[in-house]
Amino acid sequence: MIMIDGKQTSQTIRNEIKVAVEKLKKEGKQIPGLAFILVGNNPASVSYVTGKGKACEEVGFYSVTERLPAETSETDVLALVQKFNNDSAIHGILVQLPLPKHIDEQKVIEAINPKKDVDGFHPINVGKMMIGLETFYSCTPFGIVELLKRYNINPSGKHVVVVGRSNIVGKPVANMLLQKKEWANAVVTVAHTGAKDISYYTKQADILIAAVGKPNAITADMIKEGAVIIDVGINRIDDVTKKTGFRLVGDVDFENVKEKSSAITPVPGGVGPMTIAMLLVNTLKAAENSNQ
Ligand code: NAP
Repeated sequence: MIMIDGKQTSQTIRNEIKVAVEKLKKEGKQIPGLAFILVGNNPASVSYVTGKGKACEEVGFYSVTERLPAETSETDVLALVQKFNNDSAIHGILVQLPLPKHIDEQKVIEAINPKKDVDGFHPINVGKMMIGLETFYSCTPFGIVELLKRYNINPSGKHVVVVGRSNIVGKPVANMLLQKKEWANAVVTVAHTGAKDISYYTKQADILIAAVGKPNAITADMIKEGAVIIDVGINRIDDVTKKTGFRLVGDVDFENVKEKSSAITPVPGGVGPMTIAMLLVNTLKAAENSNQ
């Protein structure tokens, strides 16, 4: 069984980006710039933005974080997006979701210039992905595809079963893997709560991608011997032995499933770290596009 190490792979990608930034500097070109917009004090969002900011610093990007109070109006958030759209030092804009209820998230996403949409959420970029054009792929699905690639697990001709159909994970990863392209070309099934018995589908998977958001949603009896398991879930469960009182687990019953799988991602340390790495990849690409 191969343990798919997202932490190590993410570090390798960050090192590659650092080298690319050095090269841009030597050539006298602009370094990549990423703007974060954080509205409110949601602890998870604050921690995500802090982590992404640190990653920018590590690879030599320019980054700026605008922290706005939770009661900021939609108009003010849209104006800030517009400001960064017009800022030539900024190549990527990331609005940390979720936004407070009074702000229309879709409106904010659509206000971002698609050329700076390094999260890959703008409908133009989602549409381009759908029809197989080069674009900014959203970071978690992009990270999954990159992990498969770097572990030489070629999905071509394989049956990929995705459990979950969210717009940020399930739908885009299913779409990316079904494209008639290298490191894709899979036969893809997407299961969700509409399925009477998800194990009917999961048992057929050569590659199973779990993006459910529920601990132990995938147990050993639900998978085929030798399947590749990609666990996207990040769930907090109570753990009195931890200082924080909780620990993170995925959607997969890791200890039992790993024995039956040929390769598996752990949680933490699997897909999670790849999301930030691919944000950096997208931002570098946005900067390179603007340098051309
Ligand atoms: P989401 O929007 O809540 O979507 C969950 C999906 O799972 C839905 O499509 C839902 O079906 C389906 N589902 C829920 N219970 C199910 C069940 N019992 N049987 C079959 N399908 C079921 O979640 P998400 O944003 O995709 O995130 C999924 C998980 O990944 C979460 O734990 C999240 O924290 C994690 N995540 C991790 C990263 C990362 O960087 N590693 C990034 C994003 C998300 P319906 O559509 O029918 O409701």
